[in-house]
Amino acid sequence: MKHRVKLLLLRLSSYIYKNRDSKVIYYHDVHSKQSYTDMSTSIDLFRKHLEIIWEEGYTVVDKIQNPKKEIEITFDDGFRGLYENFDFFIDNKIPVTLFLIPDYMGGPNYVNEKEVSEMLATGLLRIGSHTMSHRNLDELDEDEVHLELKNAKAFLERKFDANIDEICYPRGRFNRRIIQLCREHGYTTQYSCLPGSYSKPFAEGVLRRNFVQHATPEEFRYHLYGAGELFYKRYLKQHFRNTYAH
Ligand SMILES: [Zn+2]
Repeated sequence: MKHRVKLLLLRLSSYIYKNRDSKVIYYHDVHSKQSYTDMSTSIDLFRKHLEIIWEEGYTVVDKIQNPKKEIEITFDDGFRGLYENFDFFIDNKIPVTLFLIPDYMGGPNYVNEKEVSEMLATGLLRIGSHTMSHRNLDELDEDEVHLELKNAKAFLERKFDANIDEICYPRGRFNRRIIQLCREHGYTTQYSCLPGSYSKPFAEGVLRRNFVQHATPEEFRYHLYGAGELFYKRYLKQHFRNTYAH
């Protein structure tokens, strides 16, 4: 019943907001045999999502440049499934962005440095920071936030000889001060988990992203049309607190 209500809301919302705007979508992992997290998407479902993207006339790009008809695919946390299934991305020439947590890398369910380097060498992977240890930034004191932002950037730049200027907030939690601190540390693009179009950022350089990892093909199509917009206020209430914890 709950699922039917959700589906109805998504369908309704997709009619109200129907657009062809470029959108960032996000996942946590993909799997074919072994799954490393219950947030993982089966490669079969992921393939269906891609087919819908193509059917609807969208192009998957590494970084959105146009306000219409582009999709950017991001993965959070750095689970191993992406690496194990990376041939799928190579075969279909699908660029993706991966937000890494240095403290988690090399752990049993997570990619290690060598694997990230291998994926980078294909030219299909971009990497960004997901902070050093994935703690909720809005619950830390300011010194700790500085360290989370600074250390992750320095680590990733050193290990991968890359320019790290993008960040994704752990669990999507942020506030005005965090946006400011991220900017001070050189993160020019910040990924939130507020749903909606690329062309309607929350603030300058603070992008919206659409959560689709368990979306059925039907639900995914509605998200592509902009159905997530209906849930914007709810997500905002859950993830954005304009007060500083300390
Ligand atoms: Zn995360």
